Amino acid sequence: GPSIVWFRDDLRLADNPALHAAVGRGRPIVAVYLLDEESAGIRPLGGAARWWLHGSLVSLADSLESLGARLTLRRGPAEAVLTELAASVGAGAVFWNRRYGAAERAVDTRLKSGLRKSGTWAGSFAGSLLHEPWTIQTGQGGPYSVFTPFWRACRAAPPPRPPYPAPAALPGYSGPLVSDVLADWDLLPDRPDWAAGLRAAWQPGEAAAQRLLDVFLRDSLPRYADERDEPARAATSRLSPHLRWGEISPFQIWHATEWARTGLAGRAQESATRFLTEVGWREFSHHVLFNAPDLATVNLRPEFDAFPWPPLDERALAAWQQGRTGYPLVDAGMRELWRTGSMHNRVRMVAASFLIKNLLIDWREGEAWFWDTLVDADAASNPFGWQWVAGSGADAAPYFRVFNPELQAQKFDPRGEYIRENVPEWGTDAYPAPIVDLGETRRAALAAYEKIKGLK
Ligand code: FAD
Repeated sequence: GPSIVWFRDDLRLADNPALHAAVGRGRPIVAVYLLDEESAGIRPLGGAARWWLHGSLVSLADSLESLGARLTLRRGPAEAVLTELAASVGAGAVFWNRRYGAAERAVDTRLKSGLRKSGTWAGSFAGSLLHEPWTIQTGQGGPYSVFTPFWRACRAAPPPRPPYPAPAALPGYSGPLVSDVLADWDLLPDRPDWAAGLRAAWQPGEAAAQRLLDVFLRDSLPRYADERDEPARAATSRLSPHLRWGEISPFQIWHATEWARTGLAGRAQESATRFLTEVGWREFSHHVLFNAPDLATVNLRPEFDAFPWPPLDERALAAWQQGRTGYPLVDAGMRELWRTGSMHNRVRMVAASFLIKNLLIDWREGEAWFWDTLVDADAASNPFGWQWVAGSGADAAPYFRVFNPELQAQKFDPRGEYIRENVPEWGTDAYPAPIVDLGETRRAALAAYEKIKGLK
């Protein structure tokens, strides 16, 4: 019977090991994407992520069609829907690339054993991480909780395999197939349509991801190490949503960067190393998620469970979300996020620190807002980033290190270009006064931290 390829966080044709293996089997291919909002423990996508997914599926369907296959869309609990689909087409084999969240793994495990019991071959492949999380272990055989030794161990492991080329043609399946209509999934916002800024900033899909990588390697990689912290510079790759959705793989990025690096020397060559190290932080956040599945809800450092958060100040939270705190770098970041679905990494750290340590609002509130508004909202990197800033996470910034948003602005946006672009009324009477005093709130945060320090 035909081969089913189940697309998930790997919406690409090139370097897709599951697809590659299915093509190798030589039977007609049924390509399917499922919108699963029902299986237990699967976190519903945020608004910006749904917008991205829509564009990415349009792009994937087009690419599949140009090679001779169709994309079938189904909605519902993955295990039931795929079991039914496999039976209805008489599938001989089902292929997918692995995911690393606990709920997703549980679905995959049940599905795999169910399919095998019914005589259908089922196989999962490594497509989204350079190193499968369980393959990188400490000398004692456990997971890493500090980045530097983790990354050293990754560098000492066998090097990432070369990427697979995209298939030249796909043997399509010609039997009858029921598919949902993408528009019926309501992934795009309509009342109101808040996505104009996202459309202007992004082009979802595999082709756009490849173009971004090429342009980044050519124009920005040599100065990455020096300029990556300056939000006005556009010196980073902007690949994070493409990586999140698997429109490009870390193997493709790795090998293209290593190749670009051979043409560089000195500081520019260090920049290439630095860039790959950032890709390493993505690996690390997945390693941590794999070993701590409740990363989005549970403090990695248990003493933070006793942190004396004051009752939630809804007005302060709203001011932060809307970019009206009176601190221009924080407000610029939060408005960039709302407008474009993204925020520069340096500013993410400053805005997160401000919420946690100047507004004394639980990091989980911030994580949830980012989850809803980021196009790269990622089950590993987002909670990992929040716990890192809070000080409750793996290899985290110590809690007592409080970013000062004014000093950060002087240092990383010295001419105020980034701020002016995102907060046009900055410096006029229309700009809000600061909602809190930095010194006072910092002292309150440190006093709260004193209460849990030393607890275990
Ligand atoms: P580049 O500098 O070009 O880096 C290349 C790639 O490396 C990125 O695309 C990304 O995949 C990875 N990467 C870089 N920095 C990090 C990092 N610190 N942690 C993990 N991976 C990294 N990243 C997400 O992809 N999704 C998230 O939901 C997310 N939430 C975050 C929340 C907070 C509070 C913080 C502080 C950081 C968060 N990050 C998240 C990490 C980082 O901010 C983004 O990956 C980065 O800004 C993306 O821009 P870029 O693609 O131009 O990065």
